Amino acid sequence: MDLAFSPEDLAFQQEVRDWIAGAYDDDLRRKMSQSKNGYLDKAGQVKWQKKLAERGWAAPDWPVEWGGCGFTASQRYIFNMELSLAGTPNPSPMGLKMCAPVILAFGTEEQKKQHLPPILSSDIWWCQGYSEPGSGSDLASLQMKAERDGDDYVLNGSKIWTTHAQWADWMFCLVRTSTEGKPQNGISFLLLRMDTPGIQIKPLVTLDGPAESEQEINQVFFDNVRVPVSNRIGEENKGWTYAKYLLEFERGNAYAPGLMNMLKKVKRIATQEVADDGGRLIDDPDFRSKIANLEISVEALNAAELRIFSGRSAGKAVGPVSSMLKCVGSEAQQAITELTLEAVGTYAAPFVRDTWAPTNEGRAGPDYAAPAAPSYFSYRKASIYAGSNEIQRNIMAKMVLGL
Ligand SMILES: Cc1cc2nc3c(=O)[nH]c(=O)nc-3n(C[C@H](O)[C@H](O)[C@H](O)COP(=O)(O)OP(=O)(O)OC[C@H]3O[C@@H](n4cnc5c(N)ncnc54)[C@H](O)[C@@H]3O)c2cc1C
Repeated sequence: MDLAFSPEDLAFQQEVRDWIAGAYDDDLRRKMSQSKNGYLDKAGQVKWQKKLAERGWAAPDWPVEWGGCGFTASQRYIFNMELSLAGTPNPSPMGLKMCAPVILAFGTEEQKKQHLPPILSSDIWWCQGYSEPGSGSDLASLQMKAERDGDDYVLNGSKIWTTHAQWADWMFCLVRTSTEGKPQNGISFLLLRMDTPGIQIKPLVTLDGPAESEQEINQVFFDNVRVPVSNRIGEENKGWTYAKYLLEFERGNAYAPGLMNMLKKVKRIATQEVADDGGRLIDDPDFRSKIANLEISVEALNAAELRIFSGRSAGKAVGPVSSMLKCVGSEAQQAITELTLEAVGTYAAPFVRDTWAPTNEGRAGPDYAAPAAPSYFSYRKASIYAGSNEIQRNIMAKMVLGL
């Protein structure tokens, strides 16, 4: 692996920087300065994702004929790093990074033509219908029934923890089409419209954002919901194969660039906050050692990601080693948000977004303190979603270490 950038790479880096300077406007920057998790509300996400799409950079890893960028490994690295270091919003993954790779790998030509362009342009919002009450880690035990009736499946049951179901136009969904044999063998993968009669969405309130505008997860109920058989991806009862393929994309993200930006922010805060001895927090030996330990972990993760991603061609899943990236990345996210909370101290107390004023006026503490508590609470779930870290360790033991 050659880590030195060529003159072409450096020119590309400048091109990305110049584009960000123009596209990442003051409105987006202001909103992102208060983001708890690197994302914005739906309007903000769509605004940013459309800018990327207009530039042709919305889906770097897709095949070029469907709108991918054809980046080299070093261009992909530079692109991710520049966006992350500038603190731009993370594109919402459900359509672009989760559903699309499955459609590309296993969908029909009609399904590709129908779904890929509106995913690319962010005109259609997707949610993920995998988990059910009692079927999270043990996903193969899922029970939501899909019974054939003519050219339709009829769905009954419920999905839970469904992120942004309230914003979604479509859901990709695992359903039980057979109870014969092993549970994995009776699952099918469906695409369905969220405005189909019989679907009801109920919000689940979480600690990181009790306000309606902050609501993220839901339970979705299905009561005799009719979904055309033509909306199935691949073969009936083969959905487990497609579902696992998708999970490798869900977990196979580069964490290090985002973590570097999070560390940059906490260091900036620590130059302004005061330590117990009255000096700057950034000069406090205990705080410095915590920062140094985190920087070492993030550098090590960055090296691992460079090695893994440089060996992968565009559009290919990372494989089971994605479990390692997910564990180390999510645990570093949690450690950094905890350190940020420590840095801002009591200013983190009034964390409910409803109480925030649009400017510093009326708010306890500096602007940078306001997202500290929501962010801390938000990242608690990073070691649960996309498959809990305990489950990732089981996967690594079996699939990577061969134990
Ligand atoms: C914020 C958030 C957003 C989410 N968004 C979505 C979404 O959009 N769509 C979707 O389908 N799902 C979503 N999920 C669901 C997520 O994938 C599940 O929460 C996760 O897979 C864990 O399942 P569970 O909650 O049922 O916990 P359980 O499976 O009940 O696990 C409980 C605990 O037991 C541990 N455990 C379970 N089995 C084992 C084992 N074999 N070995 C060791 N430890 C074990 C787990 O690690 C965990 O600590 C989301 C979850 C969260 C928290």
